[in-house]
Amino acid sequence: MSFNKLSFGSTIGIIGGGQLGKMMAQSAQKMGFKVIVIDPNEDCPCRYVAHQFIHANYDDENALERLGESSDVITYEFENISSKQLKHLTETFNIPQGYQAIEILQDRLTEKQSLLEAKTQIVPFLYIQNEQDLVKAIKELGYPIIIKTRFGGYDGKGQILVENEENLEAAKDLIKKQECVVEQYIDIDKEVSLTVTIGNDQQTTFFPLQENEHRNQILFKTIIPARSDKEKEARKEVKKITNVIHFVGTFTVEFFIDKTNTLYVNEIAPRPHNSGHYSIEACDYSQFDTHILAVTGQKLPQQIDVLKPAVMMNLLGRDLDLLENEFGEHPEWHVHIYGKSDRKPDRKMGHMTLLTDDVNQTEQYMLMKFEGRDK
Ligand code: ADP
Ligand code: MG
Repeated sequence: MSFNKLSFGSTIGIIGGGQLGKMMAQSAQKMGFKVIVIDPNEDCPCRYVAHQFIHANYDDENALERLGESSDVITYEFENISSKQLKHLTETFNIPQGYQAIEILQDRLTEKQSLLEAKTQIVPFLYIQNEQDLVKAIKELGYPIIIKTRFGGYDGKGQILVENEENLEAAKDLIKKQECVVEQYIDIDKEVSLTVTIGNDQQTTFFPLQENEHRNQILFKTIIPARSDKEKEARKEVKKITNVIHFVGTFTVEFFIDKTNTLYVNEIAPRPHNSGHYSIEACDYSQFDTHILAVTGQKLPQQIDVLKPAVMMNLLGRDLDLLENEFGEHPEWHVHIYGKSDRKPDRKMGHMTLLTDDVNQTEQYMLMKFEGRDK
């Protein structure tokens, strides 16, 4: 769908008031837009930077209608909203991201089927509904395997790594509760991701290839530019994906690179992504800036310039406990705190970005700082 460029003073409605919603709102306000946000959590990070807040569940039809009535455009910060409801909203309101990407990507099975259809390289997988399917899958894929729920997983939640027969029981329990997919567990050499923004006019603007390290399946750090020769190949894979999935706005494709240097598409997030946060300081446009430009129908920059290489570290509750006292001593850390009142060891509370001429050295320095971290 094509739509008119929104003028300054127009209102952007955001579904979801977490840190991504907050950083979208900050970009939007910089450009002169007003922001209204809906979130079930009264204390959500975006609330305090938005002009208006609707306190409601994401399945509250009246509240979503109210958001639509008050907004010139609607965007969302996460993929676990009902695609049916989103589809219904697109009939009345301006939602450039559309519902199709959500519909496909909130279900790991249809996500993988679309990736196959796009002819991208993905990790061998099987769909399993019961114990017999699991046994068959193990025969076909061999150990180790990773089981992932079809719906609702994030940051490694809803996933079980099965290395051998001994830890099969937990997998069986999970399958009893939810439909799953099983993947071969890859011997990963490196994880990378590519953030890209698609404009209203289909302009595709790439951010630099991002090198990611996960710990306990949660993003630990991102380095740009990635120390990898896979940028061109990753861009090609992303192009294949945009040929089959209609989308406007910022999204990220996560990849694995295995020990044989083969690139696999892992998953797609149809929204700004944690591994793109460095762009706020390290690039001439942040992933949130380009997202807002796209959904408000403005022209995108042809390319993103990296102003300086960067190391981005996530700050979970456990990391804040460890490093908070040092923030005042390190203005070069560019600390972002999201403003969540409830601190938990594995909850993302913020992140920090270090601009550097030597990512290897900065990486070593940061690893030392995070060393006392309770894993
Ligand atoms: P989430 O939606 O939780 O981000 P992912 O599928 O991206 O789910 O998995 C989270 C992390 O778990 C990945 O970034 C990677 O580190 C690890 N992982 C997931 N699947 C595999 C796999 N098939 N082989 C090896 N590691 C994996
Ligand atoms: Mg992931």
